[in-house]
Amino acid sequence: MQKIRLGTVTALVFGSIFSPLPASSASTGIPTIREAALQDNVAWDFIEGLTTEVGPRPAGTAREELARDWAVARLKRLGFANVRTEPYKMPVWLRGRDEAEVIAPFPQKLVLAALGNSASTPNRGLESEVIYFPTLADLQAAPDGSLKGKIAFVSHAMKATQDGSSYGYFGATRRQGPSIASRKGAIAILIRSIGTDHHRLAHSGVQMWADDVKPIPAAALSTPDADQLVRIIGRGKPVRVHITLTSKMLQDQPSGNVIAEIPGKDPSAGVVLAACHLDSWDQGTGAIDDASGCGIVAAAALHAAKAGPLRRTIRILMAGAEEVGGDGGRAYFSAHGAEPHAMVMESDFGSDRVWRADYKLPTGHDALAARVSAALAPLGITQSRTAAGGGSDIEPLVKAGIPVIDLQQDGTRYFDIHHTADDTLDKVDKAQLQQNVSAWAVALFETADAPESLGVK
Ligand SMILES: [Zn+2]
Repeated sequence: MQKIRLGTVTALVFGSIFSPLPASSASTGIPTIREAALQDNVAWDFIEGLTTEVGPRPAGTAREELARDWAVARLKRLGFANVRTEPYKMPVWLRGRDEAEVIAPFPQKLVLAALGNSASTPNRGLESEVIYFPTLADLQAAPDGSLKGKIAFVSHAMKATQDGSSYGYFGATRRQGPSIASRKGAIAILIRSIGTDHHRLAHSGVQMWADDVKPIPAAALSTPDADQLVRIIGRGKPVRVHITLTSKMLQDQPSGNVIAEIPGKDPSAGVVLAACHLDSWDQGTGAIDDASGCGIVAAAALHAAKAGPLRRTIRILMAGAEEVGGDGGRAYFSAHGAEPHAMVMESDFGSDRVWRADYKLPTGHDALAARVSAALAPLGITQSRTAAGGGSDIEPLVKAGIPVIDLQQDGTRYFDIHHTADDTLDKVDKAQLQQNVSAWAVALFETADAPESLGVK
C-alpha cells in the first residue's frame, strides 16, 4: 500500500508541474476540487450565520428548533435536495443558577458550571465540608459511605494532546465521577473542568447517572478555581463550600435531525453519510462545537459534487442532541439504519486543520484508502495505522459495521475552548477551516465516486 500511495502522490506532483494530468475522472477532478475548496467561503458563512443568527442551541429547546429551521433554509439556498427535518422527542436538562463560594477558612467565590443531568440543589443551596481527591482513581478507592454528607472534589488535570485522545482518559472524571461520589454517600461533587486552558471559564459537559445511584448536584470548577481550591485545602484546615446549582428536567421535549442530499447516479451503491451536530452547550455559541463541523460537511459536499452527480448520494446529517447523549444519532439509525450505507464520516472536533486520516474499510479496499490518502497528501495529511472509529452521531452505524474514515483534526487547542462560554466565532481560523473543507471535499469525492462495492450488496 505504501508503494501505491507514494506512486500516486508522485504522479500528481509531476502531473501538476510538468504536464496535463491524465484523463481519468479521479485525477482530473481531485486537484480542481482540492484547490477550489481551499478558497471556500461556504463553511465560514455557515458558521458565522448559525452562531450569529441563532447563537447557543441547547438540545431539545426552542433554540435548537431555531437552528433546525435556519439550517433547512440555508441548505435549500445552497442547492441541496431532499432537505428536511426528522423530529423525535427526548428528556431535557436545563441549567439554572450556578454559584459557589468557599465559606471557610478563606471565604471567596468560585467559578463553576453544572454538568448535564446534575441534580438541583435547594434554591438556598447546600453547604458542607470538601473532601479532596487528586485523581478519579483516588475517589474510586475511598471506602463506601466515607463521603456521607460531604462534597467530593476531584482535581485531575487534563493535558492537551494533538489527537485529543486525553479527553477519553481525563474525561472519565466527568462521566463517572458523579456516580462514584454519589455511591459513596457524597451530597455533591465538584470536578476540575475537563479542559486544557487557564481561563476562569468552566467547561460543562454531560454525564449519565449509573442505574443504581441517586443523582446529586455535580459541577465543574474553572481550572484556576480548581487550582485555588487545591491550595486552600493544602493549608490543612477543614474547607467548607456553599454550592447553589438550580436546574430542572423536562420530559418529552421536541428535538430533531436535519437531512440534506446531493443525489448520486446509482441508488443501489449506498449513500455516503457526512455527519455533524446542530446542538451546542448553552454558555457559548457553539462555533467550534459544532457549527464548524456542519459548515465543513455542507461546504465539502458541494465542492465534491460541483462537476456533476457522483456515483453515490452524499447525505448530510446535521444531528440534534449530540451533546447530551447522542439522541439524534440514534434517531437517525432507527429511521435509516436499514438503508445501504457505503461510508460514514463525522466532523465534530472544531475547525483546525486535518493532519491524519484513519480508515476502517472492508478487506480488499486498500486501493481506495490509497487513493484518498494520495488526494489528501498535498494538504499535509498523513495516513495512520490506527483504525477509524467515527464519533457519536454515527456511532450506531459504525457499530453496525459500515465503513468509516476519520479525518483527524489538530486538537491541540480544542479543549481550551470546548464546552465553555469561549466557544465563539473568533476561535475559527479561516485558513485552517479551508484546509479542512478541502480534505473533506476530496475524501467525499473519492468515496462517493468509488467503483468499489464498500460492502454494499
Ligand atoms: Zn460536539
